[in-house]
Amino acid sequence: MEYNISMVNLDTDILQINRIGAATAKRLKLLGIAKARDLLFYFPFHYDDFRRIAAIDELSAGQTANIVGRIELIQNKRSSRRRMNITETLVSDDTGSVKVIWFNQPFIVKTLGAGDMVSLAGKVEEDFSGPVFMSPTYEKITKGGAIHTQGLVPNYHLTASITQKQLRFLIKSVIHLVEELDDWLPLRIKNELKLLSLAEAVKKIHFPANEEDVKEAKKRLGFEELFLIQLQSQLIKNDLKASRAEAVLFKEEETKKFVDSLPFRLTDAQRKATWEILKDMEKEAPMSRLLEGDVGSGKTVVAAIAIFNAALNKKQSVLMTPTEILARQHFNSLCKLFAGLGISVELYTRSFKLNNQEAGSKKSKVGKNKTQASKSKLLASNIVIGTHSLIQEDVKLKDLALVIIDEQHRFGVEQRKTLIDKGGIGLVPHLLSMTATPIPRSLALAIYGDLDLSIINEMPKDRKKIITRVVPEESREKAYEFIRAAIKSGRQVFVICPLIDLSDKLGFKSVKEEFARLDKDIFPDLKIGLLHGRLKSAEKEKVMEEFLENKIKILVSTSVVEVGVDVPNASVMMVEGADRFGLAQLHQFRGRVGRSVFQSYCFLFTDSNAPQTLERLKALVRYDSGFDLAKIDLRFRGPGEVYGTLQKGFPELKMASLFDYELMKTAKEQAEKILEQDKDLSSYPALKEKIGEWERQAHLE
Ligand code: ADP
Ligand code: MG
Repeated sequence: MEYNISMVNLDTDILQINRIGAATAKRLKLLGIAKARDLLFYFPFHYDDFRRIAAIDELSAGQTANIVGRIELIQNKRSSRRRMNITETLVSDDTGSVKVIWFNQPFIVKTLGAGDMVSLAGKVEEDFSGPVFMSPTYEKITKGGAIHTQGLVPNYHLTASITQKQLRFLIKSVIHLVEELDDWLPLRIKNELKLLSLAEAVKKIHFPANEEDVKEAKKRLGFEELFLIQLQSQLIKNDLKASRAEAVLFKEEETKKFVDSLPFRLTDAQRKATWEILKDMEKEAPMSRLLEGDVGSGKTVVAAIAIFNAALNKKQSVLMTPTEILARQHFNSLCKLFAGLGISVELYTRSFKLNNQEAGSKKSKVGKNKTQASKSKLLASNIVIGTHSLIQEDVKLKDLALVIIDEQHRFGVEQRKTLIDKGGIGLVPHLLSMTATPIPRSLALAIYGDLDLSIINEMPKDRKKIITRVVPEESREKAYEFIRAAIKSGRQVFVICPLIDLSDKLGFKSVKEEFARLDKDIFPDLKIGLLHGRLKSAEKEKVMEEFLENKIKILVSTSVVEVGVDVPNASVMMVEGADRFGLAQLHQFRGRVGRSVFQSYCFLFTDSNAPQTLERLKALVRYDSGFDLAKIDLRFRGPGEVYGTLQKGFPELKMASLFDYELMKTAKEQAEKILEQDKDLSSYPALKEKIGEWERQAHLE
């Protein structure tokens, strides 16, 4: 097919774009780029400043510079000693000439030839002959101007196998499409705040002429993110104000008895949070509360008390989790907590559905793992536990008054409306969202203006500090000996690996490889389990069950065990390729051990020797609180990465800083103003459309 630029529009599949083949398209998809539009909205995170073109005679070792000159000579050489190809080049301008060297890129001579004008950007080093440009980014100068080596050059977050150059080239080739973008931000706001149009902002964020361009583009793009968040929050809040919920009365006496029957004493923070929740549920206005507490702080029991009260009021509750593993685990712990109290607990999973379709209902046995209930049983049960997909399923309840969401913050009005239908009583259920993500209070309030906040800020008293170590490769054997001893004394071990595939060029331990190694070479006498996201749910279940029952001694897993998993007998957490994870995520992993009285350990392995990496990992040795770690993580990586990847439902901010309170305040004021004039945005169709789209993205990914 002949390439014709006029055929490309915003919705063109990237496969239709010149120079993108199937392999590249696949890699781009990993970055979330599927259409031409996505290229435009893949924003850079950093710019190299190559605005000044240096004269060759002023180059000195150690600096980063951009030069423009003519190629006098270019040739490939074999270095016999190091067995590599060296491309040696001499480039000159009016002031002198400089040697340029590239390693193992012999194909360069096909692009660049003697006589060509080139622009080079990179690091200057030195050899016996004077300054040398080492592997600079190069660009032949043509009519189109330089995009890789001159001016402010954008840098993008990339996966392996896509280069900065490739991405810049592709973005450049579709940048004209900005003219087709629908600018949904109301004109009045743009004028009042002096914001760029969407087209200008997107153009300038990729190819700015100066810092002012970057600043203006960021302001516009950052504002719109915060504005959408605020607008959505307030829409939810307004909707909730207009709706009613069932009052769930606080049964003080029974609750006290229940709390006294627990195998431990609630912490003061747990008591306070419980109290706030129960008081909220007594109102006829629907509760909207976020319960925030560090890993292991004991959020489940707080939820259980709320569920218990709903049950005493003859009302139903639903508990939703991000994974089936977690659903099953909550099922087990609630069955235990409620044993003998006449509260029926049901688990709704994929196998539940299959069972009902194929074999009809089976008897449910509270306290057993493999419980399956019939639909009528669900209808009548006090609490139904399932994954977040429960909401999309054809599940009917009778009298739903409380919805609890584990490990996810947000839950829009649409979802609640779905639940109203499930509950069958026409009232909005109370909502409790639980999270271990350490968001500062001010930030939570700014982002989740529609939610009230309870914080559990202390840990149960009996916990021992988990001993954390960054283990150098030469001590690996010792670590294995340690693990063997721990297992001998009855404990269990997690091993976390970053990737599933063997094809990983960067050399990170893939989970399958690591599993095979441990299983065959290191611990052939022990039973080892393998867990990753691509297993069928029945397989996952089996592995988790065997681990819980201490049949499996070592569980090798990807990050699927990151949230919530509670196996109190496990006392060693070993993380391979630890540098691949954020601190907050590593903290989540570590939270899988130390959940009982046993002294627990966390061993971090890394192939990296970079001082910054080691410094970052050492923070885990020093700090125990997720909150402190998140603060440190924020210094190394942006908030989008720290919070965004940590938990679904957290708004993924590409541009705005969550800590830009000034812009946040402006966004809030503007959202209030616009809703005051027009409470359902009917005169802003483009904006309304945008909110819908944004909500769908946030919830259904
Ligand atoms: P998270 O807040 O991470 O969800 P869990 O609710 O899973 O934590 O609780 C972690 C472990 O601590 C569980 O095994 C739970 O039984 C136990 N636990 C909860 N509260 C207390 C307490 N006050 N004292 C001692 N142990 C507790
Ligand atoms: Mg939990």
